[in-house]
Amino acid sequence: SIRPLVAGNWKMNGLKADLAIAVEVAKGYDAGLKAAVDLAICPPSTLLYPATAALIGSRIATGGQDCSVQVSGAFTGEVAAAMLADSGAAFAIVGHSERRTLHGESNATVKAKAEAAQKALLVPIVCVGETKDEREAGKALAIVKKQLRGSVPEGSTAATLVVAYEPVWAIGTGLTPTAADVAEMHEAIRAELGRLLGKAAAAGVRLLYGGSVKPSNAAELMNVAHVDGALVGGASLKPDEFLAIARAC
Ligand code: 13P
Repeated sequence: SIRPLVAGNWKMNGLKADLAIAVEVAKGYDAGLKAAVDLAICPPSTLLYPATAALIGSRIATGGQDCSVQVSGAFTGEVAAAMLADSGAAFAIVGHSERRTLHGESNATVKAKAEAAQKALLVPIVCVGETKDEREAGKALAIVKKQLRGSVPEGSTAATLVVAYEPVWAIGTGLTPTAADVAEMHEAIRAELGRLLGKAAAAGVRLLYGGSVKPSNAAELMNVAHVDGALVGGASLKPDEFLAIARAC
């Protein structure tokens, strides 16, 4: 069976004082959760190095929230995957819906970012998910499969890829799909990855659910077949809630 991963996406939140959140999470993790689940914290890139340092000894990983498609050079404001790795990151979220929407990232861009992450020995957490209109039009499965075909690097394996299904309409809204809808989607994602990567590789890729995960719904969502953890936004800034979600895996 797949060891679950719960990753916290802090988004554009967190100053130095908020490293205390990571320290609190580490305390709770060490006290009994370590055996069952992997944790990762993805702070803003300004906090990546100190967060990694604060977590030394805890076995909690850190990750970036994005990376450049470029290796280095005249790209003002961009952060290269190797810089995230150099700051201690093990993961890089790529293709989050906020980047796809607010920064116009296409599937091809997301794929290039995932490849850049893999080249720097980071594990990309490739995000996919449909909008409310797409779900209501009955197109959710088709949209997500298309995103996977366009965004997942060829040759990815269970060790080099994580996929997060985040329905756009569930992010930060308090709304979540039904367990049946998540089950249908995650089964379809596993099958599509099987076509893209081969069945053996796809079988071990961790498939996270993200979008309004909180302690009160975590057990139901995390017990769905092919859900191997969570990508958590708002609740990842609250140590008690983040730990409760991890405990539900
Ligand atoms: P919320 O958990 O705040 O809905 O955010 C989900 C998300 O976008 C994680 O990447």
